[in-house]
Amino acid sequence: MFSSRFPVPRSQLTRYFVFFFFFTWNLELGTWNSFGAQEIRVLIDHIDSKEFPLDVPETGFLVTKENGDVLLNESGALAVSEGLIFNANGDQKLHWRGTPYRGLLEVVKAPDGRLALVNALELEDYLLGVLPSEMDTKTWPMEALKAQAVISRSYAISMIEANPKAVYHVGSRANHQMYFGATYEDDRARQAVEETRGEVIRDDRGAVLAGYFHSCCGGRTEDARQIWSQSASEKLVGVSDFGSCKISPHYAWVTSLPVEELERALVELGFAFDKPIRGFLVGRLTQSSRVVSLKVITNSGRLEVPTDKLRQVLGPNWIRSTRITDIKFKNGRYLIYGRGWGHGVGLCQWGAYSLALKKGWDYQRIVRHYFPKSSLNRM
Ligand SMILES: [Zn+2]
Repeated sequence: MFSSRFPVPRSQLTRYFVFFFFFTWNLELGTWNSFGAQEIRVLIDHIDSKEFPLDVPETGFLVTKENGDVLLNESGALAVSEGLIFNANGDQKLHWRGTPYRGLLEVVKAPDGRLALVNALELEDYLLGVLPSEMDTKTWPMEALKAQAVISRSYAISMIEANPKAVYHVGSRANHQMYFGATYEDDRARQAVEETRGEVIRDDRGAVLAGYFHSCCGGRTEDARQIWSQSASEKLVGVSDFGSCKISPHYAWVTSLPVEELERALVELGFAFDKPIRGFLVGRLTQSSRVVSLKVITNSGRLEVPTDKLRQVLGPNWIRSTRITDIKFKNGRYLIYGRGWGHGVGLCQWGAYSLALKKGWDYQRIVRHYFPKSSLNRM
């Protein structure tokens, strides 16, 4: 527990104050610090209890408030509140629930009113954590890792630019990019990030394009506008990847969904219907054979259910992608057959793996293939 590390010796406080004011001043500049590096703010966790399992090895850490006050009383007790900022000494990393983090950890009030823990750090340092959380950096080809680095960087920058002053720019789970802090950083992730430093994809007006990606497209990626709203970028277009992601364990799948689970999900989505469900069918398809909506036949009529919404409520373990090829009923369960894993827009990770490994494509060719309406260049 952190309390055993306190109090910070008085002799060290002056040094901390100086450093802290320096950082606060940087915050005023927006998302760039004084060294010209871009900062990203990542939501790590919500804090719902008084328990505050923050720790840093050996040398302790500093707890301050936005005005620079050090928030330690004589006994080292700490009340969790908005505005706390934790900063490790030197190269030390802060730990939250066993996960190490570079940069700062801050307690903020999230838009939903809850207290949240945010990791504020340099963008390129963030990518060191994203890459091994998203790809197997130990065994995957370097060119696939570099393609992921470019796309993850582009995604992060597009999120920052969409709302630079947000209390956080991205989450740390699959709805944004997976990020387990510095847990899995390794030399190959570092190489991929450093050798593509500052490289992003842009649209024809020079704006950084949101680098969407997914695990496996199932043979063809998707137009963002086909499965999201018309406000999605028209530059995010679907392409064939020649079945290169057949190499993926997620290329073809089947899940066995209990009828009760489907009923629960429909209720959660706000559908009113009389049980039992009598049929569950594939509805309208996109060009890449993704299912836009599913038909559910009930005692009180037919429901048309948006597939992506049902996937969100059920979770990706039941509907791994919207590229559903068939649905069959057997012993009180629906057998759902499909291809690929993820939303299908942008980079296909398993396709990148295969194109690098089997065809020898470099990362630039891979990126241009999956984002044909973008240009690749340095910030
Ligand atoms: Zn693919």
